[in-house]
Amino acid sequence: MSKQGEVSFLESVNKNFDKAASYTDIPKGLLQQIKVCNAVYEINFPVRIGNQIQVINAYRAQHSHHRLPTKGGIRYSQHVNKDEVEALAALMTYKCAIVDVPFGGAKGGVKINPWSYNEEQLERITRRYTSELIRKNFIGPGIDVPAPDYGTGPREMAWILDTYVTFKGGEIDAAGCVTGKPVNQNGIRGRNEATGRGVFYGLRELCNTEDAMKKIGLTKGLEGKTVVIQGMGNVGSFTGSIMQNEGGIKVIGVAEYEGSIYDAKGIDVDKLIKFRKETGSIIGFPGTKNLGSRDAALELECDILIPAALENQITKDNAKKIKAKIIGEAANGPVSADAEEILVKKGVLIVPDMYLNAGGVTVSYFEWLKNLSHMRFGRMEKRFDSNTYSSFVGVVEKLTQKTIGAREKEFLTRGADEIDLVRSGLEETMINSFQQIWETYKRKKKIESLRSAAFVVALDKVSNDYQNLGIFP
Ligand code: NAD
Repeated sequence: MSKQGEVSFLESVNKNFDKAASYTDIPKGLLQQIKVCNAVYEINFPVRIGNQIQVINAYRAQHSHHRLPTKGGIRYSQHVNKDEVEALAALMTYKCAIVDVPFGGAKGGVKINPWSYNEEQLERITRRYTSELIRKNFIGPGIDVPAPDYGTGPREMAWILDTYVTFKGGEIDAAGCVTGKPVNQNGIRGRNEATGRGVFYGLRELCNTEDAMKKIGLTKGLEGKTVVIQGMGNVGSFTGSIMQNEGGIKVIGVAEYEGSIYDAKGIDVDKLIKFRKETGSIIGFPGTKNLGSRDAALELECDILIPAALENQITKDNAKKIKAKIIGEAANGPVSADAEEILVKKGVLIVPDMYLNAGGVTVSYFEWLKNLSHMRFGRMEKRFDSNTYSSFVGVVEKLTQKTIGAREKEFLTRGADEIDLVRSGLEETMINSFQQIWETYKRKKKIESLRSAAFVVALDKVSNDYQNLGIFP
């Protein structure tokens, strides 16, 4: 969705690519191969809705086959088009490279407004879309693995798996054909919260980086920072809730489709999510001021602005009015390339989407590995670890002649469950990747933004992969 007079989302991604490419010494032909979309499948299929047949337009773009399978979410939105899907697929390639997830990038889109169909109709659309992908070999655990995105969630992923299994009976790794599934249907604990939790780890790492905070005149640490969030869907709500409960930040503004609200004392995100579920709106949440327009919250004075809705929300039209010191791109492409130039000149630190929202694909990778191994993480070692820690505690008690309390003992002797391992793997990934981006940003003096630094990290890794394949000398 691009605003008038603004370059399209795909042009924005390519403009950012070209800028970052100029900081590398990757040969021109190889850069061109990395940039182009390798394959796009556009489908128009019929679905019966009530007494009528509706023709649904849909896409699956596989941006890069340098690693297989390709991976990327499926979006349900009336704004879906070929350019948007290609742009999102390209971001997936760079994102996977940044967080060392060994997949090429992909993205799917179905051009519908999901909120104007009932559950049965959505199921019919999802199943038909999946069978079209199967027919053209555009889905499979070793081919292309979808996941949730805007307008889709675990329910749609379960329908995709069931359709796949119906067609491919007996395929032993079939469960790995899609990720983001419900936990009781071959999903993994922690996938639903993963993108939001990754945003939290990423922003915490940035705020713990002394040089970065000095640069923008903020104190070190996440605690106490004021935050505004746009979009209270999957990503926005988990980001807000986890950052508030585990990071000690204060959410002072929230924007949703129906409008935006403000409270300088802080908005309880968990209560707000419950309130919106019950009333259908964030407007009227006790203690908050209605700011009138949907976009008004974006212009609030705050430390961190987190756009978590859609692309092209901060454009050259409103970039000058943004007062945040940090923009954490939880959504894909929320800041246009034109807006970024204005914001970088103003000294705003933009933490780019291709790093910050990579928590979703990281945990999707863990889910895929779980599906291929046919076993829950922690099953083999949990009890063994717990017994070893118990023996160790026993030895300490014997040597010190002191008894350790029951609660401490329980904490010290716990073996890790799946959720503990997923969260720890995600935390490690987000910290490592941030350090790689920050090092590149500091080392290459000419690089003007964290986005260019993240791109350089991604381009170096993808070009290495191509060279290892022996296609490019
Ligand atoms: P979602 O459908 O769960 O939530 C999006 C929310 O944004 C909805 O509540 C919607 O009402 C709101 N919204 C739409 N337009 C708005 C506007 N103009 N102003 C304010 N609010 C608006 O979608 P999601 O899965 O949370 O995805 C959000 C963004 O994060 C997308 O850009 C998506 O590509 C990206 N993303 C999602 C995941 C994931 O795991 N779900 C992973 C990586 C990136």
